Amino acid sequence: MARFYVTTPIYYVNDAPHIGHAYTTVTADALARWHRLLGDDVFFLTGTDEHGLKVQRAAEARGLEPRAHADLTSERYREVWSSIDIDYDDFIRTTESRHYKATETLMQAAYDNGWIELRPYAGWYCVSCEAYYTESDLIEGKLCPIHRTEVEWLEEENYFFKLSEFAGRLLDWYESNPGAVTPEAKRNEAIGLVRGGLRDISISRTSITWGVPVPWDSKHVFYVWYDALINYATAIGYGEDQARFEAWWPSVHHLIGKDILRFHCVYWPALLMAAGIDPPSRIAVHGFLLVGGEKMSKTALNQISPADLLPTFGVDGFRYHFLRDQAFGPDGDFSYEGMVARYNSDLANNLGNLLARVSTVVEKKCGGIGPAPDPSSELAAVAASVLESAGSAWDRISPSEALEATWRLVRETNAALEAAEPWKADPGPEVDRVLGDALEALRIVAVLASPALTRASQEIWDRIGLAGRVADQRLPAAAAWGGYPGGLPVERGAPLFPRIAG
Ligand SMILES: [Zn+2]
Repeated sequence: MARFYVTTPIYYVNDAPHIGHAYTTVTADALARWHRLLGDDVFFLTGTDEHGLKVQRAAEARGLEPRAHADLTSERYREVWSSIDIDYDDFIRTTESRHYKATETLMQAAYDNGWIELRPYAGWYCVSCEAYYTESDLIEGKLCPIHRTEVEWLEEENYFFKLSEFAGRLLDWYESNPGAVTPEAKRNEAIGLVRGGLRDISISRTSITWGVPVPWDSKHVFYVWYDALINYATAIGYGEDQARFEAWWPSVHHLIGKDILRFHCVYWPALLMAAGIDPPSRIAVHGFLLVGGEKMSKTALNQISPADLLPTFGVDGFRYHFLRDQAFGPDGDFSYEGMVARYNSDLANNLGNLLARVSTVVEKKCGGIGPAPDPSSELAAVAASVLESAGSAWDRISPSEALEATWRLVRETNAALEAAEPWKADPGPEVDRVLGDALEALRIVAVLASPALTRASQEIWDRIGLAGRVADQRLPAAAAWGGYPGGLPVERGAPLFPRIAG
């Protein structure tokens, strides 16, 4: 059985979950659902990143232990994911003991291999970034270039990872694995970072205590970023169950935003190499989800949370927008008007209307019993070609194209109904044939759209009289023309996607 391991970044517990997080997470969830339809053994991982000075200080400000603070803030992500039907297999928290064990094991291996050493370090540090800056990076010599808040001077002895010695191996890796970082522009960006020269990086801190202790020197904790990356290994058993780890690794699909490209496409593969582990097979990088042309941030007060949109669009309308309208790769600009327009055209007018028409005419002309499709229907070829296009698009991590392909079947079926006008005809074999074809198209669309429309796909399935769960169907058989048996009661229910007033 094929295996499919997909990850989101683990989200920083101090952040409030917003639609940028949701965009990546819905994409990973839809991919996982697609691969479950294919019958693959799927492991979908998300979670929260809980160490670092920022968390320690936020906890102190609330009068809580960091762990108690993280318990509360991590839970917000679970709640939001549950509200948009995110069906992860594991939710990892970097404060779990399994993660301490994996981090210690991996770092110890890199240390034993001679790639980590103690050196003095001093520099300007932004607490919000959890990163050092050189003087030339700073605005007016004192402000973080990202947060525009004052940086602090930190002096400490740090363990350094000898990243500079991995340039050649990284370039060989990109060269011999052209699909490892996608899209191409992001791969080139990663190669450019390595060619531009790599400096050794500081991976431990003595100035804080809220982190995974360095196993060979307990005065230090690992810098939050380097323990965070290791979550992807922890969750599949690294450090505890080597056989399980090897069954899943390195065949993984990391979905990440472009702001963390350097960590994932340069540092992470190098760190794995240092520990004697193969780099990940695939890192798919997407752009920012912008609001009014700007990146969402707490300081810009332009963060939109899923809860702001769910009452209007519902879970399906929410998921569909982010999968269909925001192409995975380039920056996307979120627009409420665009979201309404897409909902009305694809969901209300096309899919919702198709179901309403078919169930109404089946009630009037067929006594509410759905007829069987015509094996030689012209829609059979459309369905076959849609399956092929959608499958290839999901493989490329292009949900937008996969759904566009799927909606071709919806549109062609509506066109066939409009051409035949069964609502004007007398009951008989011709009407049965047209409606049977439309029911079969709806059945196939319910399966193919189910990674996006977690609720409506099941609703369509139930209303056209089919038993069981859409999610239990298996491709390609479930998309083969002729699966709708006919003779089933068809229910005429309320509109599936009521129109939203622009
Ligand atoms: Zn900063």
